[in-house]
Amino acid sequence: MTDAPRRTVYLDHGASSWPKPPGVVEAVASAIAEYGANPGRGAYAMGLAASRLIFEARRDAAMLLGVRDSADLAFLSGCTEGCNLMLKGVLRPGDRVVVSSVEHNAITRPLHVLEQRGVRVDVVEADERGVVDAGRMEEAVDAAPTRAVVCQHASNVTGAIQPVADLADIAHSAGALMLVDGAQAAGHLPVDLGSLGADAWSASGHKGLLGPQGVGLLYLRPGLDVEELSQGGTGGSNSEEPGQPTARPERYEAGTPNTPGIAGLGAAVRYVSSHADELRSEERRLARRLHEGLLAIDGVRVLGPEPGEPRVPIVSAVTLGVAPDRVAFELDRRYGVAVRAGLHCSPATHRTLGTLETGALRFGVGFGDTDADIDLVLGALAEILA
Ligand code: PMP
Repeated sequence: MTDAPRRTVYLDHGASSWPKPPGVVEAVASAIAEYGANPGRGAYAMGLAASRLIFEARRDAAMLLGVRDSADLAFLSGCTEGCNLMLKGVLRPGDRVVVSSVEHNAITRPLHVLEQRGVRVDVVEADERGVVDAGRMEEAVDAAPTRAVVCQHASNVTGAIQPVADLADIAHSAGALMLVDGAQAAGHLPVDLGSLGADAWSASGHKGLLGPQGVGLLYLRPGLDVEELSQGGTGGSNSEEPGQPTARPERYEAGTPNTPGIAGLGAAVRYVSSHADELRSEERRLARRLHEGLLAIDGVRVLGPEPGEPRVPIVSAVTLGVAPDRVAFELDRRYGVAVRAGLHCSPATHRTLGTLETGALRFGVGFGDTDADIDLVLGALAEILA
């Protein structure tokens, strides 16, 4: 007799949400089974159906994110590609960029390349909770001519929500662009890109938007001229022209799109749109229950904002005396709990928080998690650390 498969208590939604809400798996499968033709190419029924599916996904994502013209949203492979595009598409040698000290490497690595090409990168330290201070940002921006301010919308380590609208005002007053990594905000926070002030905002489809991996969204403010990363592969429009189409979104969507991924994202976005309030209040409640439970365990220090302060549903902790990767291993092996340990692709954040040596244990709460899951994890942690 074999053991029944153990249910995974999944608390790694900060990396990828799982499971997916009703309709997402079916939408991916039917895009492959029923619409498996290239959109935007053939004028036959299957190609047109694929084009329609992409049009609807873009329209519904635009609606959720407060984007008036859905052509200002491009489907890319994920937030990383969008971050590369918005940075490399506007920054030129001699430009200065001011960036927070708590960015993911989807920002810091492209900036590292740009720095080697002659872009000046100045860093503004976030506070001990990982929150970016608008006053400090203003001082840095005003200190020298600045082409762009770059900041995350929310942190994948501390869950801290950054004052993006204030930072955008500061950037614009100085004639700079506001470029935002929205990976951890998308889906979890109400986002209105029409009024936020971001000139560019990049997000993953597979985190809080509850879509499949391999697809993300980049918003570019109307009229902003950003150079594309790739050219070609798009035969559907202006085939006779030697250059990449300049119209949006075609300019940024070279090659055959990820139609199954976009189909899944479309279904996910419709689910998030119709359940946003309950999804957000439930994940906030569970994250707070976890946060308060962690604070009650001896030998645990929680990073980031205090309980009750704004955060997305990510809670990271340092475990004194036992390395986080050991704790994560025990949680998985003995209790079937999936969490992430380490630096979470953001050594910059851990440097800011003083946790570069230890790293942390990260709990990402989300769709499908329950009170029983949170209580199981807290009990397991207390046993492991006892
Ligand atoms: N920025 C942040 C803040 C993230 O948390 C992540 C995902 N870990 C990314 C960027 C990269 O996103 P993607 O996996 O969609 O490329």
